Amino acid sequence: MPFTWQLILYLRAQIKGLKRFEHIVDVVLPLALPKTMSYRVGEDFRSQLEFGKRVEVPLKNKLYSGIVVGPVYSKEIDYPIKPIVSILDEQPIVTKKQYDLWKWIASYYCCTLGEIMSVALPGNLKLYSETKITGVEDYEDHIADLTDDEYMIMEAVSIQGELSIFNVQEILNKKSVYPAIHTLIDKRLLFVKEELVEKFKPKKHAFIRFPTQYAEQEAWLTEVFDKVDKSDHQRRALLAFIQHKNKNNEALKSLVVKTAAVTGSVIKAMVKKGIFEEEKKIVSRLEAEEMDLEMLSPLSVLQQTKLTELKQAYENHDTVLLHGITGSGKTRLYIEFIEEILENGRQVLYLLPEIALTTQIVERLRKVFGDKILVYHSKLNAHERVELYKAAKTGGKLILGARSSIFMPFSALDFIIVDEEHDASYKQQDPAPRYNARDTAIVLANIFQAKVLLGSATPSLESWINAKEGKYGFVSILQRYGETLLPEIQLVNLKDAYKKNKMRSYFSKDLLTAMSDEIVMGRQIILFQNRRGFAPVLQCDVCAWKAECRNCDTTLTIHKYFDEVRCHYCGFRQNLPPSCPSCGNEHLREAGFGTEKLEVELKKLMPEARIGRMDYDTAKTKNQYEKIIYEFSSHQLDILIGTQMVTKGLDFEKVSLVGILNADKLLAFPDFRATERAFQLMTQVSGRAGRRHKRGKVIVQTFSPAHPIFTDVINTDYEGFYKREYEERNKTVFPPIIRAIEITIKHKKQHIAQEAGMLYRELLYKEIGQRVSALFTPSIPRLRTYYMQKVFIKMERDAKVNAAVKKWVQYFRLKIQNSKGFKSVRINIDVDPY
Ligand SMILES: [Zn+2]
Ligand SMILES: [Zn+2]
Repeated sequence: MPFTWQLILYLRAQIKGLKRFEHIVDVVLPLALPKTMSYRVGEDFRSQLEFGKRVEVPLKNKLYSGIVVGPVYSKEIDYPIKPIVSILDEQPIVTKKQYDLWKWIASYYCCTLGEIMSVALPGNLKLYSETKITGVEDYEDHIADLTDDEYMIMEAVSIQGELSIFNVQEILNKKSVYPAIHTLIDKRLLFVKEELVEKFKPKKHAFIRFPTQYAEQEAWLTEVFDKVDKSDHQRRALLAFIQHKNKNNEALKSLVVKTAAVTGSVIKAMVKKGIFEEEKKIVSRLEAEEMDLEMLSPLSVLQQTKLTELKQAYENHDTVLLHGITGSGKTRLYIEFIEEILENGRQVLYLLPEIALTTQIVERLRKVFGDKILVYHSKLNAHERVELYKAAKTGGKLILGARSSIFMPFSALDFIIVDEEHDASYKQQDPAPRYNARDTAIVLANIFQAKVLLGSATPSLESWINAKEGKYGFVSILQRYGETLLPEIQLVNLKDAYKKNKMRSYFSKDLLTAMSDEIVMGRQIILFQNRRGFAPVLQCDVCAWKAECRNCDTTLTIHKYFDEVRCHYCGFRQNLPPSCPSCGNEHLREAGFGTEKLEVELKKLMPEARIGRMDYDTAKTKNQYEKIIYEFSSHQLDILIGTQMVTKGLDFEKVSLVGILNADKLLAFPDFRATERAFQLMTQVSGRAGRRHKRGKVIVQTFSPAHPIFTDVINTDYEGFYKREYEERNKTVFPPIIRAIEITIKHKKQHIAQEAGMLYRELLYKEIGQRVSALFTPSIPRLRTYYMQKVFIKMERDAKVNAAVKKWVQYFRLKIQNSKGFKSVRINIDVDPY
């Protein structure tokens, strides 16, 4: 045989292993890998493999659960390929449409499919080698149903508290352990431990019922009526029980107590008498508690007109912006759309900022839609999240959730409402994917041919422009529902007030007088200060020492209540130093003020007033938050001091005055959206003042009353504001005039961040030219121990150009991270930064 190239190739193939046909499938792993991975499919798995099922696969000696994202195909290969170890699902958990959305997000926001998978799936559906699992305590009842492997896992976890996947592999003495873990998760005996999630506490409710031996007997009822004959309270409780008992002849105790208007001790007495039995039962949070649905008030004439306008707008547009000022009754209009769609057995997704999910709006919708509503939020435990995720497949439901609920496996999505569409919390900042849920919702709707309603009292400039340019439909309601007037807004010039001695602490005399007047009239006040803690700076005037964070280039905020100084970026904290650690000076100065200091100062000035505070420190948990809301709405407090938490989704009947303590701080952010945000915040917080026939008042304290933004806020001149803001962005060339990408290059060593940044910028400049800015150091140069360098890219609004730029941005990121000396450099790409 002549010595030919064919022979060489043949011999090479012989050495590597012959070319052969293999059955292959592509899998997404929950890791930041640039591509999907391919695995060999053994004969026995071929018939069960399906798009969207999870499989257990090896990568670098570790096992992961990944998602199958394509059909099995056969291909001729000559390299070794690892096989799928097991299939974890009987039914797919990811749909093709979901995956279409993932692919769009990956390409638009420059991130990996694995990063999206990590946010898209509830914790219990993702298993990594690093995953820690933990179990329920009382698994003994289930022992009979467990396989040997499952039993060994439960034994070990009950002794050790938690196990890693590696521990389980050791215990079972085999590599493939996901199937057993997975079955135990399905049986609700195991769950994936997530550091940030509260420990699983099942919700228990007290139920009452007739003693079992009598439950069915009419005779018992007559007897019972005789037993309660002497007590009016007990008779009422009995009637309420009959009214509320469900098909299992049980009634929720709290409901009976409420309807009968009696105390719990009445029920207790009846249990003692043997009339009722009481039992505490675990209730799934997904099953709505039984409650009476509320009849909707008919639409007002104005609402009827606006509903017609909205429907007309949908004839020519898939997305409509509804600009409805606070109190205009937007929710009532949403309800009209939701009802119609649910009746047709289709789905509605209702997006809200996370914080608004715990408030009045959810209760209101629950009263209308009862068990047709599914609420997806961060307070659900791991099992509930999986339950809800799976429940999202059924039609005829209203799914209410924060930004990550766009990742649900919808099947019949017809309508998406993005409420408070301007809210910054729709944008995920860290980690990747850095997506904007509002914009992604529009793409999601497109995949389902669904319609989108963007609602806000203060729309984002982006949406406003899209509406004005005719890309979105547009409907506005600039009147409040039921004749309520817009509040009167008064500016207080702080410069004058200080000069003329008209200030007491941080409060102008005008504000203090107005507050006293309102309290005397039996009304309430909200004070807004966009900074929590006592004071943002602790410094020594003798030696210029400042309390600074050791991880970030920033000062530590004083928290007197906790007797600490804390970093608001990384969470670092220290005890409050009694004297200057540098020179010993005992008179340290507290510069600036936050909500905590306002509360202390105001208590001195108005000792009679009942003052509460709502910020991240006092309302960290759902319970704390709800307690403050309850105290304020039941008028146990006269004044509520708060950060922007008080601006969101809350309505209080008796609030007639709102005070903004320092409006200048809102305008001072080094950010192209600062003015827009200030306008939105001031307008939103003003919207809290005045309800039903009483005109509210807003007092704004500022050093620069001549700033044109105040004229816009006072006149509620939206057109004027957006026009001026648009011109400003046009002049300075910022979004939405152009499209932007912000890139952060980070490293623990300053010079490496700098060098990598220089190289990255240089490479980009060669390809995309002036679109990339010079390398610059951000206003806080170091955060969480990382030094940062940034570049800002500005691109024309042209899809082709954008795609090309994004390609280079990602290509060079990979190139830098693969080059010597830069392997540990982190490069974050933020498309459409917020
Ligand atoms: Zn000092
Ligand atoms: Zn810090």
